[in-house]
Amino acid sequence: MKLSRAERQQIENEMIFRRANEKVGTDLDDLDAMHRKDGHFNLVRDENLILHFKCECSDENCSVRIPLLLTEYRAIHLNRNTFIVKTNHQVDMIEKVVMVTPTYSVVKKNNSTPEPSDVLNITSINNS
Ligand SMILES: [Zn+2]
Repeated sequence: MKLSRAERQQIENEMIFRRANEKVGTDLDDLDAMHRKDGHFNLVRDENLILHFKCECSDENCSVRIPLLLTEYRAIHLNRNTFIVKTNHQVDMIEKVVMVTPTYSVVKKNNSTPEPSDVLNITSINNS
């Protein structure tokens, strides 16, 4: 199945949001490593710290945050076709919901597209 331009743009937006979220995790790891190196063990992050990840839906203007443990976030994203979105932020045309929790849904892409550049696409989706 070939993706329309609009569909591809929506998927790309989700990938860009996911990349931003993943950077949060990597930055925290770097910070922890620095604290350990400096002997500041009290500053090393608690494993149970809740982070507020960006909603990974395809609306480029969506600013919803999803509270989640970093370990949970990483477990979900071991599959590169999955994204976390606020409940009801999924777009049925490009993805399907594979898991629902009280605060967020996990969606899986119907199609995969290559990882995009860092520029968000303008779409007709509006979750506000
Ligand atoms: Zn959203």
